Amino acid sequence: KAKKEGRGRVALYKDGMFEEAAERLAFAEDLAMVVERGQLELHYQPLLALPDRRLAGFEALLRWRHPDKGMISPAEFVPIAEASGAIEKIGAWVMREALREAARWPEDVYVSVNVSPVQLRSPAILSQIRRALADFGLSPERVEIEITETAMVDNSGQISAMLAGLRALGVRLAIDDFGTGYSSLAHLREFKVDRIKIDRSFISGVGEGPDEDRGASAVVRAVIGMARDMSIDTTAEGIETSGQLERVVGFGCSTGQGYLLGRPMTAAAAGSLVKSSGGVFPLMRAS
Ligand code: C2E
Ligand code: MG
Ligand code: MG
Ligand code: MG
Repeated sequence: KAKKEGRGRVALYKDGMFEEAAERLAFAEDLAMVVERGQLELHYQPLLALPDRRLAGFEALLRWRHPDKGMISPAEFVPIAEASGAIEKIGAWVMREALREAARWPEDVYVSVNVSPVQLRSPAILSQIRRALADFGLSPERVEIEITETAMVDNSGQISAMLAGLRALGVRLAIDDFGTGYSSLAHLREFKVDRIKIDRSFISGVGEGPDEDRGASAVVRAVIGMARDMSIDTTAEGIETSGQLERVVGFGCSTGQGYLLGRPMTAAAAGSLVKSSGGVFPLMRAS
């Protein structure tokens, strides 16, 4: 009998599954309160116009300063917040905070804000943006909304209505992590996005000599070429080496992002950077 129970238990709780589920639950409970508890922070990563490396904008990246666990990455908690519904409150906080910060920057510097597909299911996001633009006196062209490619693949018509609503506000639209999802070229035509952000997994293959993944390079070059022909801007994500930077510049990419060009930084650091820059951006480290 014991043996039977034992086997049953193994089937129910595979190694660490129970702990994992319990942790997710505790996490989800904490996530419901992060906004009230003031535990969220936005960091800002520079987006540089290529080839001259002038500061064009910043991407707002969310961080959770957990009292026991320290700084937690959005890759760890955003999916849980999406499943629990906490993302709606968190996303509203992100939007307001990012737009408030951007209003302090020079007029030619934009802010890019990540939006979860869950947030796109409710029109609340449109009024959040409209209100923040008015409250902070920010013009809508200075705001870009990043939507992952997978979010565009929704044939309910709801997503296209939301994207049309965002366009009507005058904010710009970017497809994030392009190349990793299942969107088709038809979506690109249908949604009239302003920018394609080419996923880091492709950029990391764009090296030189033995570092080059020829397939990745070919995809990056083709996407940039196609985007240019459609008058869509491109951002290369995750540029870490000068070889990668040279190649994407050679392909005609209009914007660069990555540790070589600038790491995510606090709002205070971004604020002093916009004051001190105005010229060509230095590379973070020689390579
Ligand atoms: P993402 O939107 O693709 O953001 C870029 C991620 O790549 C950031 O990770 C950034 O720190 C990282 N990164 C930038 N340059 C480099 C590089 O050169 N090398 C490497 N290895 N990484 C680089 P982060 O901040 O951990 O964010 C992860 C993801 O979490 C984001 O990917 C985005 O999908 C999501 N996220 C971040 N903030 C928010 C938010 O406010 N709302 C929502 N819904 N999702 C968010
Ligand atoms: Mg993004
Ligand atoms: Mg991205
Ligand atoms: Mg990415």
